[in-house]
Amino acid sequence: MNSKEKIEALSKELREHNYSYYVLDAPTISDYDFDMKLKELQALEEQFPEYQEADSPTLRVGGEITKNFNTIVHDYRMYSLDNSYSKEDIEDWEKRIQKNLGDVDVSYTCELKYDGASISLTYEKGSLIRAVTRGDGIQGDDVTTNIKTIRSVPLKLKGDYPEKFDIRGEIVLPFDGFKKMNEERVSAGEEPYMNPRNTASGSLKLQDSSLVAQRPLECLLYSIVGSNLGIETQYQMLDKAREWGFKVPTVAKLCKTTDEVMDFVNHWDIHRHDLPYETDGVVVKVNNLLHQDELGYTSKAPRWAMAYKFKAEQVSTVLNEITYQVGRTGAITPVANLEPVLLAGTTVKRASLHNADQIEKLDIREGDTVFVEKGGEIIPKIIKVDVSKRPSNSSPTSYVSSCPECNTPLERTEGDAKHYCPNEYGCPPQITGRIQHYISRKAMDIEGLGGETVELLFKEGLIKDYADLYTLTKEQVMPLERMAEKSAENLVNGVKASTQIPFERVMFALGIRFVGETVAKKLAKAYKNIDALMIASVEDLIQVDEIGQRIAESVVAFFKNEKNVEAVTRLKNFGVQFEISAEKLENQTEKLKGLTFVVSGVFETVSRDELKKMIEDNGAKVGSSISSKTSYLVAGDKTGPSKRTKAEKLNVPIISEQEFLDMV
Ligand code: AMP
Ligand code: ZN
Repeated sequence: MNSKEKIEALSKELREHNYSYYVLDAPTISDYDFDMKLKELQALEEQFPEYQEADSPTLRVGGEITKNFNTIVHDYRMYSLDNSYSKEDIEDWEKRIQKNLGDVDVSYTCELKYDGASISLTYEKGSLIRAVTRGDGIQGDDVTTNIKTIRSVPLKLKGDYPEKFDIRGEIVLPFDGFKKMNEERVSAGEEPYMNPRNTASGSLKLQDSSLVAQRPLECLLYSIVGSNLGIETQYQMLDKAREWGFKVPTVAKLCKTTDEVMDFVNHWDIHRHDLPYETDGVVVKVNNLLHQDELGYTSKAPRWAMAYKFKAEQVSTVLNEITYQVGRTGAITPVANLEPVLLAGTTVKRASLHNADQIEKLDIREGDTVFVEKGGEIIPKIIKVDVSKRPSNSSPTSYVSSCPECNTPLERTEGDAKHYCPNEYGCPPQITGRIQHYISRKAMDIEGLGGETVELLFKEGLIKDYADLYTLTKEQVMPLERMAEKSAENLVNGVKASTQIPFERVMFALGIRFVGETVAKKLAKAYKNIDALMIASVEDLIQVDEIGQRIAESVVAFFKNEKNVEAVTRLKNFGVQFEISAEKLENQTEKLKGLTFVVSGVFETVSRDELKKMIEDNGAKVGSSISSKTSYLVAGDKTGPSKRTKAEKLNVPIISEQEFLDMV
C-alpha cells in the first residue's frame, strides 16, 4: 500500500470506529488502539499533507482559532416551537389541525425535547460544509470549526443521502461528562459550571476549537430540511438520518391518537431522569410531511409541531437555616438547610444559594416556605419564596460578614460573585482543604491517607500544612480513631513514597489558585525547577504558552507569601521533587526559546519524533501547520509540497536537518 492509500484506509477505518463509539455507543476497539491509529494517521498526514482528506478524523482534535464568528443567513428559517402544558392544550391543537386539514387521518411522531443549543448543519455531497447556530432564527453564527470537533457529528456521510440538505439538532452536554468537567474545575480551584445547557451553548462560541474538542459534547439530530429529499414522514426522516450516520435518539414513537401522545409524555415525564442528558419536554410533530406543508407556519413557529413542556419538578418546604461553607480557596457558599422533602425521586435536605446576590434577589429568609426545583442542575435550587407563608416576625437575611469557621472579616473583590475568607493559613477548612487536595489522586496520590484522616490529624494538632505530613511517625498516628499498627504504617510509608512523585504533579499539588493539572505541567516544563519559578515575574510568566494574566498573578502572589515559601523549603528538605527529573533535564536548553518549528519529511540521522523532542528540549515549540508565526520549516526528504509552497509564500525559512542540528 502506498502512503496515499494508507491514509485513505486509516481515515476510513477511524471514521467507522468513531461512528461505533460516538453514534452507536458500541465501541469495537479499545480507546488505546483507537488513539494509536489516530496518531499513526496524524503522523502520515503531516508527512504527506497533500493526501490529508478534507474531512479527516484527525480534525476532531481542533486547534483552529476563530476570533470573530461570521454571520450566516439560514437557507431555511429555524423556527421556535409553541408550548403546551396539559392534555387539553394538546387536544385543542389537534382540533385546529383537523379543522385545517379536513377529514383525514393524522398521526404524530413524538420525540424528546433535548435541552441544549440548537444547531443547523449543512451537508453537500455527503460532507459537512457548515454549522450555524440558531441565532435569531433567520441568521446565526458560523461555528463550523468548533462543531467539527464533536465526535458524534459525522464529517462524511454513509449510504444514500441527498446531494444537499440541512439537518437540525441540539448540542448537549451529557450529565456524566458535565460532572467530570466540574470535578476538574473544582480541583483546580475554579467555580463549577451551573448547568449543562449553558455550558454546552457557551462551548459553541469558544475561540479555541481545541478547548471545544476537550468537552464531551454530543449532537442529537431531529429534522432534515431541503428540497427533493425523497422523505415522506417525520418518522422516516429520523430513520434516514440514522442511516446516514447521524446520532438520532431511538426514543421516538409514532402515535395515532392524542391519548397515545399523552402516554408517551407521561412516561418520559417520570423516566427522563434515567436519560444520560437533559430534556425539558416532548416535541409532538404531525407525521406526514405533506400535512406539514399544508399546515405551514405562524410568524414564530410551525403549526404542525408542539412542544409539551415537562413541569420542572418542584416542591415547597421550609427553610430552617442558612449556613455558610468555606471551600479550599476560601470561597464562601451559602447553603439552605431544608426540612427534608422528596423531589424527583430523592430526598432533598440542602440546596445551594450560590452567593449573596442570589439571596438578596429572592429575598430568602430563614423560616420561609420556599419552592425547590430540580431542573438541569445537579444540586437542587430555590426558585421562589412563598411570601404568603412568611412568619410575621421575619427579617431580611443579613449575609455573614465574618468567616463562620475562623471569624475573620470576609472580603469581596469587585466583579467576584463570592465572598472570600482571606485567612488562608488560619482558617481550618482552608487548611484541611489544601492538604486534602495535596494528597488527592491526581496530585501526590498518597496511599493510606484519606480526607477524613486529614481532618483528624489536623484536629489532633499533628499537622498544620502539607509539609507537616512528612514529620508524622507511626507512633503519633496509631492512637487516632480507626487506626491500627498496619494502617499507621501504610500512612507513613505512603507519605514517604510521595517524594518520588514528579515535579509537574507536585506543582499541581501545591494548590495554587487557577493552576490545574495542565497549567502545572506547562509551568514545570517551562521553568524546570521551583527556584526559577519562584522568582518569575508576571511578565515572565505570561510569556509561557497558555499562561494568562490571571494565572500569572496568582502564581506570583502564591510565592510572595512567606508561608508558602517556607512550606516549599520544608518539602524540599523532606525530599519532594522540585525539579524536572535528571533524565528529562538532560539535553535541555533554552537555545531555541521563543521559536516555533514545523517538521516535515523523512530524516537521515534522527527520527521525526527525536527531532521534535530536540526542538522542545531546547525551549522551542513544535507547530503542526505553517502559519505566519512559524519560525522555521525543518524539511527532510519527501517534505510535502504544500508545506513547502506555504512556507515560501509566507517567507518562512526552510532549513535542512543538518542546519537544524547545527543550531542546537
Ligand atoms: P424553544 O427554544 O422553546 O422555542 O424550542 C424550540 C427549540 O427546541 C428548537 O430550536 C430546537 O433547538 C429545540 N429542540 C430540542 N429537541 C427538539 C426536537 N426533538 N424537535 C424539534 N426541536 C427540538
Ligand atoms: Zn475563615
